[in-house]
Amino acid sequence: MQTVILPYGQLLLAVEALKSGEIVAFPTETVYGLGANAWDGAACLKIFEAKGRPADNPLIVHVLDEAGLLELTAGPLPDCARKLVAAFWPGPLTVVLEADRKVPAAVRGSLPTVAVRSPSHPVARRLIELLGAPVAAPSANRSGRPSPTRAQDVLEDLNGRLPYIIDGGDSPVGVESTIVDCSGGAPVLLRPGFIGRDVLQKVLGEPVLLAGKNTAHKAPGMKYTHYAPQAPVIWINMKDEQRTLQALDVLRKEYSRLALLAPESWQFYRTQAFRGIGQDVNAVAHGLFAGFRELDRTHPDAIAVVWQAEEGGVGLAVANRLGKAASRQVTE
Ligand code: AMP
Ligand code: MG
Repeated sequence: MQTVILPYGQLLLAVEALKSGEIVAFPTETVYGLGANAWDGAACLKIFEAKGRPADNPLIVHVLDEAGLLELTAGPLPDCARKLVAAFWPGPLTVVLEADRKVPAAVRGSLPTVAVRSPSHPVARRLIELLGAPVAAPSANRSGRPSPTRAQDVLEDLNGRLPYIIDGGDSPVGVESTIVDCSGGAPVLLRPGFIGRDVLQKVLGEPVLLAGKNTAHKAPGMKYTHYAPQAPVIWINMKDEQRTLQALDVLRKEYSRLALLAPESWQFYRTQAFRGIGQDVNAVAHGLFAGFRELDRTHPDAIAVVWQAEEGGVGLAVANRLGKAASRQVTE
C-alpha cells in the first residue's frame, strides 16, 4: 500500500478511508494519532497490526464532547469525570470509565473499561465530525518508538502500512495526554501528561493517587517499553553543572559518537550531534520526541539527555517519558 501525506485541506479523502474501514494518521495537540472508526472492531484491529502493538494495550477513543463520551460509557458520569471534562475538554486529558457493551473488545484491550478524550486540534475535530463517529487512536508510531509529533515522523515509522497521513504541522504539546482512571472510587493518575497532577488535584478537590505507587492500578500499556529511539539513551538528571559536565566527559570516552539533547546553554559542549530542547519544561515536552528522532538520524552510539527532573505541571510527564526511554540514569 502506498502512503500519501495529505494537506489538511484534503481531509475528506481520509474521512472516506475511515468510512470504508481503513486506518489513517492525523494530527492532535498532543501527538499524531493512528485512527479507525471506534465502532468498527475489524478496522481497529488494523491499528494493532500496523503498529506491532500487543492486543492487551488498549486505545484511546476520541470524541467531540461529553455527549460523545456518554455513548461509549455505561451509566451516569461519576463526579470525577464530570469535573475533569468540564475543566479540560477539549484538551489533553483522557478519562477511563466503565465501557458501554457496544465498544469493541479490540478498543478496550478486552478490559471492562474504555479510555476517552476530546482533542482540541481543529483537524482532529473536523475528522471526527465528518466521520460522524468516535475515532479510536493510539499514537501513530511503531510500538516502542517515540511518539510522532510531525507527519514526517509517522511516515518514518509506518510507510506502506496505511493509505493517508493528514499533515497538520507540529503537534503543539508534544507529549501524550494525561490519563485519569475514574472507574473506581478515588481518581488514579494512570499516565502523567501535559496536565499536571497538581492541577488535577486542584480541580477535583481531592488527592489523585499515582498508579503503581500507592494503588494496585496499572495502566495496561505501561508495562511495555516506550518512547525509545534506536540509540541507547542516557539521562543525566542532575542540578549541579560541574558534575553534569564530568558525567558527559565520562560518556564521551565511552561512546565515540555521542549525541547530546540538552537545553541550549549546553551547545558549547562538543559532541557529534547536538539538539537544543529549550530552557523550560514546556519547551522540553514539545521537543523531546522530535529531538530523539532527529538525533537518531545521525546514527549515534548513544544519546545523552541533560535535564533535571521536575514534579510540577508537565514536569512529571517529561520525567516519566525520559525514565522509560533511558537505559541508564546518572543522578547526584
Ligand atoms: P497511546 O495513545 O499510544 O499513548 O496509548 C493509549 C494508552 O491509553 C494505553 O497505552 C493505556 O495506557 C491507556 N488506556 C487506554 N485504554 C485504557 C483503559 N481502558 N484502562 C486504562 N488505560 C487505558
Ligand atoms: Mg503510544
